[in-house]
Amino acid sequence: MNLFDQHLHSRHSFDSYAEPIESVRHAIEIGLSGLSFTEHYDTHPDEAPACVFDEDAYTDTVAKLRTEFGRDIFIGKGVEIDYQADSMDAIVSFVERSGFDVVLLSVHWSEGKPIHKADVWENRDPSEVTRCYLRSVLAAVRHCERLHRSGRRVFDVLGHMDFCKRYSNRFAGSMHVAEHMDVIEEILTACLAADLVPEVNTSTLRNDLPDPMPGEATMRRYAELGGTMMSLGSDAHRSTQVGADFDRALDMLRAAGVGQLAVFRSRDRQAESIAR
Ligand SMILES: [Zn+2]
Ligand SMILES: [Zn+2]
Repeated sequence: MNLFDQHLHSRHSFDSYAEPIESVRHAIEIGLSGLSFTEHYDTHPDEAPACVFDEDAYTDTVAKLRTEFGRDIFIGKGVEIDYQADSMDAIVSFVERSGFDVVLLSVHWSEGKPIHKADVWENRDPSEVTRCYLRSVLAAVRHCERLHRSGRRVFDVLGHMDFCKRYSNRFAGSMHVAEHMDVIEEILTACLAADLVPEVNTSTLRNDLPDPMPGEATMRRYAELGGTMMSLGSDAHRSTQVGADFDRALDMLRAAGVGQLAVFRSRDRQAESIAR
């Protein structure tokens, strides 16, 4: 089985010190067939000065790693785009002029604030904050749907669809995604219409949560709606986290009836069977 980790960060992202070469060595050690770095590209004016990578330095790193390790493993140059409704035109033209292997679209903000900040959750009903977050994800996917209708695939993967549960768990001690399956279903349906592959992000499993993002119930709903493939990502910010908990995620995907992983090289998508 050809497994790719398609969500990981290195020192080219503002919030990671991981040495890219160490991440590649770890990926080879655990038997992955590929890894794609997906450095943060956050354009909100509060964040952009610190949170946009040096593109030349990043390109240079990936080129050097490919020279050294390209025979042993596929090394992708990807990006994790933070969805910001007001900057989508600039974001789309950035993506279209850059030579990425895989492009993730992730929602980190909701109601004008970053969802990982405690004040978003203070004095609020966490179920309501969760619903607002999921509505933001739906707006992001609808944007992709419009792009797709005009014949463009700008984004490949929807990152950590129910990311808010990490923070409702942290700040409110509870998770509410299951109460909003109606919105989740709209998101999944829109993903299919937009040709956008949802990700299974295993980072929550490292933080003692029972589920990856999203969990098995959402995977099952996706399969019922006709979804056949998802993308696998560890969201590693340290080299030793590359490929973490993939076995658990694969078991959940199989149990849910999702039989394939989507693997990207130069934006080209291939399906890899996860049958045993
Ligand atoms: Zn993210
Ligand atoms: Zn990430």
